[in-house]
Amino acid sequence: MARVYNWQLGREMSYWYPESRPKRQFAAVFDTNKCIACQTCTLACKTTWTSGKGQEYMLWNNVESKPYGSYPLAYDVKVLEMLNSGKWTGKVYEGQTIFESAPAGERVLGWRPEQQDYAYPNCGEDDCAGQVDHGAAMMALPHMSWFFYLARICNHCTYPACLSSCPRGSIYKRPEDGIVLVDQGRCRGYQECVKGCPYKKVFFNPMAGTSEKCIACYPKIEEGIQPQCFVSCIGKIRMAGWISKQQDAKPDNPIDYLVHIKKIALPLFPQYGLEPNVYYIPPIHVPLSFSRQLFGPGADEAVKAYRNAINDPDLAALLCLFGSSEKMMPRWKRVGDDVFGMDDKGATVVKVPRNEPVIVRAAYDKLYQITRTNCP
Ligand code: SF4
Ligand code: SF4
Repeated sequence: MARVYNWQLGREMSYWYPESRPKRQFAAVFDTNKCIACQTCTLACKTTWTSGKGQEYMLWNNVESKPYGSYPLAYDVKVLEMLNSGKWTGKVYEGQTIFESAPAGERVLGWRPEQQDYAYPNCGEDDCAGQVDHGAAMMALPHMSWFFYLARICNHCTYPACLSSCPRGSIYKRPEDGIVLVDQGRCRGYQECVKGCPYKKVFFNPMAGTSEKCIACYPKIEEGIQPQCFVSCIGKIRMAGWISKQQDAKPDNPIDYLVHIKKIALPLFPQYGLEPNVYYIPPIHVPLSFSRQLFGPGADEAVKAYRNAINDPDLAALLCLFGSSEKMMPRWKRVGDDVFGMDDKGATVVKVPRNEPVIVRAAYDKLYQITRTNCP
């Protein structure tokens, strides 16, 4: 095995291939605080890519309600139990990754879900587990009435477990943008990738006899447009872009700013060791111990920064840029009360006010001679 650096673990780790980063890496930030679980993203993806035969239970994008929901069933709990994950000392992970704890003769510590495990994506997950008394504290422990929505796509990992598990070499990471794809011509359906990916974001298509996965809508990315689940997002929780290496972070790159500079967006289960490239702003209303398990030791700091965004004009402005254009916005800036999303050359793609104007219409419209009501 090669020794590679994983900045999310704060240390080197063992991986099956030498470190080979793409020219630029596709990445995304999801703000969990804004997701309303409308599942528009799920359906946008489903109708675009997985409406064929053998794809009936396949959701490249899914939204699960934490802490109870998971798709496929218990995908997260199972890996956490198997990994028996070790502790963090500050920002350094002391435990083993799924590569380092692979059983003899295998490349990754993994498991393969049963078909039935895919049958219940977000089914009754929002139902409260118990009686909530009038005036009860929402933050009481152990959790009683809190939950939040976790939208998930493939993480287009820097060290993909799907890729390293594949005995055919059918999975590859594009050198131009870091998007991870399955070569349908090479795949023979051994499903080692399904077993290997701890996020369970590769799916077996029994009709095609091959594995299939999220392709980050690469035909759109190539045209400078964000993926379908991003542009359809009702809650405007998503921003797609490019992430630099930690030491090369640029403040005018929105993803770098949120991940590396403000450290407000965190990877999902960094302890697995894949260096996933979808980053989450953790929910601010759930017990931090739970957020730390999902997002690592940066959760406390991230929640604090998000809560303080109201006093941080740059951060508050950048958060307003989410979902404001279907185009990729690799650069941004704030000027006064306006935030600008820009292309690679610095040309404006979109301008958004930091404070939405409130316009109260006259109750009587003289032009149309009608009386309207304003929503408070
Ligand atoms: S999330 Fe899973 S399928 Fe996607 S690149 Fe990482 S290991 Fe592969
Ligand atoms: S479309 Fe956006 S708000 Fe709706 S479920 Fe998906 S991520 Fe959440």
